[in-house]
Amino acid sequence: MRLVTFRKKRGDGGNNGRLGVIPAGGGEVVEISGSYLDAPKSMLDLIARDAEALRIIRMNMPHLPARYRLEDVQLLAPIPVPRRNIFCIGKNYRAHVNEVSFVDPAERKEDNVPAHPVVFTKATTAVIGPDAAIPSWLDDTDSTDYEGELAVIIGKEGRGIAAADAMAHVFGYTIINDVTARRLQKCHGQWFIGKSLDGFCPMGPCIVTADEIPDVTQLTLKTRVNHELRQNGSVGDLIFDIPTLIETLSRGMTLQPGDIIATGTPAGVGMGFDPHRFLQPGDQVEITIEPIGTLSNPVG
Ligand code: MG
Repeated sequence: MRLVTFRKKRGDGGNNGRLGVIPAGGGEVVEISGSYLDAPKSMLDLIARDAEALRIIRMNMPHLPARYRLEDVQLLAPIPVPRRNIFCIGKNYRAHVNEVSFVDPAERKEDNVPAHPVVFTKATTAVIGPDAAIPSWLDDTDSTDYEGELAVIIGKEGRGIAAADAMAHVFGYTIINDVTARRLQKCHGQWFIGKSLDGFCPMGPCIVTADEIPDVTQLTLKTRVNHELRQNGSVGDLIFDIPTLIETLSRGMTLQPGDIIATGTPAGVGMGFDPHRFLQPGDQVEITIEPIGTLSNPVG
């Protein structure tokens, strides 16, 4: 199922997001929130419920009256305000590790592939939805860069989750642009500030539930800037795969429903070019992972 959070383009000013489904045929959004007795009110509310909630949505959907044409709605980030920071994995594609090592002499080594997953977070206030402008003007170091990533949405709480059991904890998948102010990233020891400027976490356009992606390693990710292909990666090339990431994060820390794990970016970021090709106002960044779709954002 393709789940979205949306607002009507007209007359929906104060609404902070309706929960909807885009049916298989596309073209419209069927509203779930408020559509039947005890319907989930938001994406986080739905994710916190058990699988029965998805079954009820499937059963009710053909009969629900609130339907909007896609052109009449504004898609928001599927989880507009995450409960806690977005977990992110750094250096998780070999070719990306090499391009970063190549441009940063401090990191140049024979083999720079990390022995354990590199984990950092992005502030929840960085999240924006599809088509919202990335405010590059907040980066006074003029080094705003894109990182197309597959993101995993946790559905079932757990601590000490074994890799073999990890996929049962996955609710679904979305796309994240781990936008980064490169020079800020480097100058504070931790990457947190350079990764957390307002608007530096575009997310969407939807969450596809895990049952519709039986083998996530078959997915491919493409990032285009102004229609030029910059990143073309395969999720099968992750150094640390999704079960390993869930096992690692949950070893001593409880993962909660609605937690988001951005799995890392493949090669082709702007910093990997010589000279660097950072984002400029007026650029358009599009990240495509089918069947999730395309996350498109202009740079402001
Ligand atoms: Mg990243």
